[in-house]
This record gives sequence, structure tokens and C-alpha cells, in this order.
Amino acid sequence: MKDVVYVTIEGFKGLEVPLAGKLTERLVELGAIAVAREGSVALDLSVSWAKPSPTALFEMVRNALQELGVSDHCRVEIEGEVLRIFVTDPQSVKLAIGDVGVQNSRLHVCPHCGYATLYEELLKEHVKLHYIGV
Ligand SMILES: [Zn+2]
Repeated sequence: MKDVVYVTIEGFKGLEVPLAGKLTERLVELGAIAVAREGSVALDLSVSWAKPSPTALFEMVRNALQELGVSDHCRVEIEGEVLRIFVTDPQSVKLAIGDVGVQNSRLHVCPHCGYATLYEELLKEHVKLHYIGV
């Protein structure tokens, strides 16, 4: 497993941040984080003490999409260690994550690496990672 695994999102813009938030909620247990990028979410496993398998990450992404209420409008594919999300119904996804989109204005951003989350507590935990002698 590579240190950074990318989950690409095709067919929709704006899913990156809410998805990264949901994935980070799960990854913090393993000491890892998800960072929203343009058109993708980067899963930073470099400081993780229990590297999840590609299959585990695949399940994680599917569960996160389910929690966001968009799993019916997306298709997730796994190819080796690359994960891809194809948004099949952008309009429905937009409706489903509409509330999250509004919350994006209250994003907490890490001054060290640009990691963004909706949750202040998560950011505090994340910033600590920069000081644990990575
Ligand atoms: Zn950071």
C-alpha cells in the first residue's frame, strides 16, 4: 500500500470536501487523514499505524458515500490501489449534499498543509499530527 492513495471523483465538483470529512472520521482511528483536493480526495496513510488494505478503503469510501446519502448516484471502482468514483446523477448528488455545501463556508483549514474539515475538533487532532515527529 502506498503512503498516499487518491480517490478520484469524476462527473461532479464539490463532493471532495464532504467526502474527505467523512473519510477522515474513519481514518483518524488508524492515525490517517483524508485531504480534499481538486477533483480528488487524497488519503494520507504515511503516519498510519494500521495501513488499511485497498479493499478496506473501498468499503470505507462506499460507506462514506452512503452516509452522505449519495451512494445511489455514484459508482465506485477499484483498480489495483486506485479508487475511482463516477457520479452518475450529479443533480441528485447536488441536492443530497446541499446542506454540507452551505457549511463549507465554515471550513477549518490546517495552516501547515491545507487540510480542510468541517469540524474544529478534527482539525485540532490533525494539527497535532504535524508535531509527532513524522
Ligand atoms: Zn496539516
